[in-house]
Order: sequence, then structure tokens, then C-alpha cells
Amino acid sequence: MRVWFFSARQVLWWICACLTLGIFLGTNGADFIPVSGGTIQRGLSGRTIVIDPGHGGIDPGAVSAGGVMEKDVTLQIAKELEYLLKRAAVYTILVRHGDYDLADSSETHLLNRKRQDLKRRVLIAEEADADLYISIHANYFPSSIWSGAQTFYYEGSVSGQHLARTLQTELVRHLGPNNRLARPGDFRVLRDTTMPAAMVEVGFLSNPREAELLSQASYQKQVAAAIFAGLLRYYSQ
Ligand SMILES: [Zn+2]
Repeated sequence: MRVWFFSARQVLWWICACLTLGIFLGTNGADFIPVSGGTIQRGLSGRTIVIDPGHGGIDPGAVSAGGVMEKDVTLQIAKELEYLLKRAAVYTILVRHGDYDLADSSETHLLNRKRQDLKRRVLIAEEADADLYISIHANYFPSSIWSGAQTFYYEGSVSGQHLARTLQTELVRHLGPNNRLARPGDFRVLRDTTMPAAMVEVGFLSNPREAELLSQASYQKQVAAAIFAGLLRYYSQ
């Protein structure tokens, strides 16, 4: 686990300085205030956001017919999202930075490994007292016709539902036509986290066209930008 941060004092100083400057320049009320190397985004900056790239290590997740692995796609998108959030002065915590899972190396039973891995992802967010949890996955279905990003939340979580709906709106806006709606889903990382949490299924690896897109760095950046836009909107509402 790596925790990225400015010092709290540094972030506060920047926020205060930028907001004060905004008043004098008549830009108070603007959502974007340029700072060195990035922007302060009101509502979003200063938050702690955990990014969870699904799968890793011996667990590749879904694999497309052409060999595109979910664990690779999710990690690249997570890293792009982390980059965008850092530029907006957000404290980001990536639960993994490479091709591994979070289970003990001595644990050889696959089911136990998966259980331990998911438990630790949640624990990272809880111990950091994070403001938000974003899990990134890719979908797979036996039929190859389905495509499109879709977001999930834990049923009964009002904040999770709001977050998921906001993310879904931006995913559709940024990635093209898609009739999918944010839906409840009983996933452990959504069920066990106490902060607003959502899972973004960034597309279908079972769809050849979408699998090809998801393997491209330019499209991965587009997906990350869509999630970033959703987070910006979530905190500006
Ligand atoms: Zn997955």
C-alpha cells in the first residue's frame, strides 16, 4: 500500500490561498481554480479516495478471447484515475500498484486467498478513514453482444446509490451511447465498506470491440476521465 499526500497543512494552505485569491480576482464561485501542476476542485480536493483495481496476481479476472486480462485493464485505469485525482489535490490510495493480490503468499487455497484479498482491500479503506471507495472491474458475459460500462452500489446505501448514478451519467456521457443504469450489486467491497462506495464495470471483455478498446491506453484514459468527471460532479452537487 502506498499513500500519496501533500501534507494536510500544505493542502489547506493552497485551498485557502486559492479561494482568497479567487475572491480578489472575482472568480469566487468557479469550480476550477488553477494551481501549480493541477487544479483545486472545490468539494473534491482534500478528500481521501481509495481506488481498487479489481483482481491481480493469480486471479486475472475476466479474460477476452484475444487475451486481454481484466486485472491489467483495471490497474491501468486505476493509475490514470489516480493521476487525475492527484492533480486535483486528492489523497489517493491505490490498493495495489502492480500485478499481485493482497493475500498472504502462504495461502494456497484459492477461495481463502480471494476472501483474504477482498477483506484487506476493505481494511485499507477503513483504516484510512477514506471518504470514498471506487472499485474498478470489467464485465464478462457468455454472449459477446453485450457492451457498455455499468456502475453498481450496495442496495440500501443512499450515498452509494447517488455516487453510482452520478458515475454512470458521466460514463455514458464520455464513452458513448449506453442504456445501462446504475444497479444494486451484492459485492463484498461494497457491502463491507462504511464510506460511499461504487463499483465501475468499465465494459465487457466478452465483446471483441470493447475488449480491444479497453486494452488501448487512450481508451483507458478516457474511462479514467469519465470516472473523474463523475467524482467531480458527485462532490459539486
Ligand atoms: Zn472483476
